Amino acid sequence: MKLTQCTPATIIEPFRIRSVEPIRFTTMEERQKLLSKAGYNPFLLKAGDVLIDLLTDSGTGAMSSAQWAGMIASDESYAGSSSFGRFESAVQDITGFRYVIPTHQGRAAENILFSTIAKPGMTIPNNTHFDTTRAHVENNGAEALDLVIDEGMDPEVIHPFKGNMDPAKLRRAIQERGVAAIPVIMLTTTNNSGGGQPVSMQNVREVSAIAGEYGIPFFIDACRFAENSWFIKTREEGYDDKSPIEIAREMFSYADGCTMSAKKDGMSNIGGFLALNDEKLAEKCRSLTILTEGFPTYGGMAGYDMEAVAIGLYEALDEGYLRYRIRSTAYLGEKLADAGISIVQPPGGHAIYIDAKKMLPHIPPLHYPAWSLTNALYLTGGVRAVEIGSVMFGLQPDGSEKAASMELVRLAIPRRVYTQSHVDYLAEAVIHTYRQREKLKGYRMVSAPAVLRHFSAKLEPIT
Ligand SMILES: *Cc1c(COP(=O)(O)O)cnc(C)c1O
Repeated sequence: MKLTQCTPATIIEPFRIRSVEPIRFTTMEERQKLLSKAGYNPFLLKAGDVLIDLLTDSGTGAMSSAQWAGMIASDESYAGSSSFGRFESAVQDITGFRYVIPTHQGRAAENILFSTIAKPGMTIPNNTHFDTTRAHVENNGAEALDLVIDEGMDPEVIHPFKGNMDPAKLRRAIQERGVAAIPVIMLTTTNNSGGGQPVSMQNVREVSAIAGEYGIPFFIDACRFAENSWFIKTREEGYDDKSPIEIAREMFSYADGCTMSAKKDGMSNIGGFLALNDEKLAEKCRSLTILTEGFPTYGGMAGYDMEAVAIGLYEALDEGYLRYRIRSTAYLGEKLADAGISIVQPPGGHAIYIDAKKMLPHIPPLHYPAWSLTNALYLTGGVRAVEIGSVMFGLQPDGSEKAASMELVRLAIPRRVYTQSHVDYLAEAVIHTYRQREKLKGYRMVSAPAVLRHFSAKLEPIT
């Protein structure tokens, strides 16, 4: 008899650990005090008082030994450093874009792009604008228009590419507003604000074709481009034997440029870039970079940050990594769904979103059910999540309050940080909280700033 290879059902973490960071265990009694002191706002907790921190996947990942080695060997010259050379080559190799402008993070690339091309009266179509993207569009007086397919707005509908833009809605918007009023069409891959849902290659092609037809530049918000490539590989016909890097290259080939936060699929703790093909536009953007970021061969990053990103971009495209990354997010989603918890389906790339409106029908939206669940997760299990509901979106410009369309709790998974046993623990903590859901109470606002109130508001439980 011949020996056969083990083809395991278990997908293991594709790394071993040789530097560890202790996490602190606290009791529920201690967490009661800590949360009360933080005004019942998890943003105001000290990170050291959190056991499993799922506030964001942005800049919270673990770097590899190769990245650290690259950082040690960095070139910190002000102009023309070899670290910039390596960074530029990596971005050009993966995206195919000619001009690469480094920035300190994604929103700085957005600031430079939109300050240069967006004017009052203009409209930027996107599948769904991420909040900083929307803020930069609006800060320049333009309209941020979301044109995601209808399926993308329903948490329960299963669709392989819920991040797709609706081409018919896009055509209508161009006809209504006129070509001159649309300086760029954007696609966010994956669609962060829509639950980390992917965009298909076919949709990228369609949107690119429409943009081309009207002569409008087409840019990609590429923060999670590698995760999006994996979804294309595993869900779209004709891509299963292509590598993630080939898929990424094809996706970028349909676009004229991209903005990127290296804190996501750059596998780095900081960094970003704007990359594009138009020489004149690149020149204008570079001038603004000097004003707001730094000299165009470092743009707000240290040489060692550029090294970390140059290496990280390739690591994010590694098949073993992506298989583990997407599978471990889905694994958490399946555990919660199997226990009866409603989540945004299907699980996206970087996070699981719990439907708190479904879980806590006894808490009215303006008593903040998603906020209540977020706090309960901290109290019961030391887990920090983030509310995406009426505390984040309910405050209107005139000071009144309106319930958000959804009450979600996002569990964002940092890259390469937590193991399967952490995720098992996490699922147990969430399910344990779910089983006591009738005991959860609403919250009321005690004090809040006028904008972006969720970051610093103080609340109290309604007893
Ligand atoms: C994070 C993010 C940004 C902004 O990047 P920062 O590095 O946080 O400034 C823009 N778009 C999307 C889709 C993002 O996820």
